[in-house]
Amino acid sequence: MSETTVTDIKRLSTQDADFQSRLAALLAWDSVSDDRVQGTVAEIIREVRARGDAALLDYTTRFDRWTPASAADLELPRSRLARAWASIPAEQRQALETAAERIRAYAEHQKMTGWSYREDDGTLLGQQITPLDRAGLYVPGGKAAYPSSVLMNAVPAKVAGVSELIMVVPTPDGELNELVLAAAHVAGVDRAFAVGGAQAVAALAYGTETIPGVDKIVGPGNIYVATAKRAVFGQVGIDMVAGPSEILVVCDGGTDPDWIAMDLFSQAEHDEDAQSILVSWDAEFLDRVAASIDKLLPTMERQEIIDAALKARGALVLARDLDDAIAVANEIAPEHLELSIENPEAIVGRIRHAGAIFMGRYTAEALGDYCAGPNHVLPTSRTARFSSPLGVYDFQKRSSLIMASRVGSATLSRTASVLARGEGLTAHARSAEYRGEEGT
Ligand code: NAD
Repeated sequence: MSETTVTDIKRLSTQDADFQSRLAALLAWDSVSDDRVQGTVAEIIREVRARGDAALLDYTTRFDRWTPASAADLELPRSRLARAWASIPAEQRQALETAAERIRAYAEHQKMTGWSYREDDGTLLGQQITPLDRAGLYVPGGKAAYPSSVLMNAVPAKVAGVSELIMVVPTPDGELNELVLAAAHVAGVDRAFAVGGAQAVAALAYGTETIPGVDKIVGPGNIYVATAKRAVFGQVGIDMVAGPSEILVVCDGGTDPDWIAMDLFSQAEHDEDAQSILVSWDAEFLDRVAASIDKLLPTMERQEIIDAALKARGALVLARDLDDAIAVANEIAPEHLELSIENPEAIVGRIRHAGAIFMGRYTAEALGDYCAGPNHVLPTSRTARFSSPLGVYDFQKRSSLIMASRVGSATLSRTASVLARGEGLTAHARSAEYRGEEGT
């Protein structure tokens, strides 16, 4: 039973009178950084805007502990990326290539295309799609390196047709991660710079002598990076400000409990704030998963992180039945949802809020993290209620098209004129009326 678990993971039941408040406490996450971080980031942005490359060099010395001879040394030329590609083991090259191909194939399906229609009087209305000119990709590199993030962010941008994709990555102690550079090579990154943190975000937003300013910045990062992205939003677009990773597993009790325990671990190992929750209407199955957690946790390399995450924000939730479990899933609106049940296709349409839905007993969430094809950059912290996975559409823009015919202009001008005069905007009214008179 739960009392004996090493991890001491919380046990909740939807039947408990205080279930809603306990669930709310479990899900609570404050994504806004404190005043100290905001102050630091504001100063870094000010400095980069005022001093450009000189500020980048100073901050790189201070935070990444190496000093480039000049700003030009921050650039990692395409030949350097190609060298990294050649230097990694063939097995890794093959895995990166396979993952990139699958991400690309999926992304091709997401491409928005333009449309138009013509009204009876000849007026044409439509929508034209264009890619962003320049996108910036932040690749975190302070504590760990994530080549999979490079693929997930860069490939959709290139599929969208972004002309110039610029990557920034910190190089702590001057050390570059060859796998990250190799991923940039295979994903088609156009230019890469060895700079990170809030200073890299500021450089992408405002441009420096060496780093060109971009139109949108995507990619995850630590609290300094996230705070900087929030601060430059408006000057440039941003993808999202991601919170800690989350998984919700809904299981009918028919999956191997060891598999489910490992799925919960796979998110918990990201960091202590990550969230792993299992919902089932089979009480005995919850006990079996708790036992699997106890058995498997000591075998994990990242045991301490997993243990801390499960203790702080993990839970095993007993639901009444499948319907109740679906209601809990919609309430949580998780980043990753595993439907580890018989015939998931029959009920998936009832899931209204989830970043990515992994259906069936064989679909480990980890497949989606690396290579299934759909993007692993997903809405966290319940934002799946109103937002979607990163995709090609995040690198495309829509422009409306209107072409009034001579007759259509006359009809429309009457409506426009009435509304414009109602708003007291007579130049609007007369501008429409001039053409309207021609058309009658
Ligand atoms: P990072 O690249 O985000 O941050 C490193 C930079 O932070 C340094 O170069 C430095 O400029 C800056 N910095 C560090 N301390 C500072 C200070 N005191 N003042 C000002 N700036 C400072 O790398 P990281 O730190 O390893 O963090 C990576 C983050 O990205 C983690 O939080 C990880 O969970 C997250 N991540 C999320 C996803 C996702 O998909 N959600 C994927 C990968 C990584």
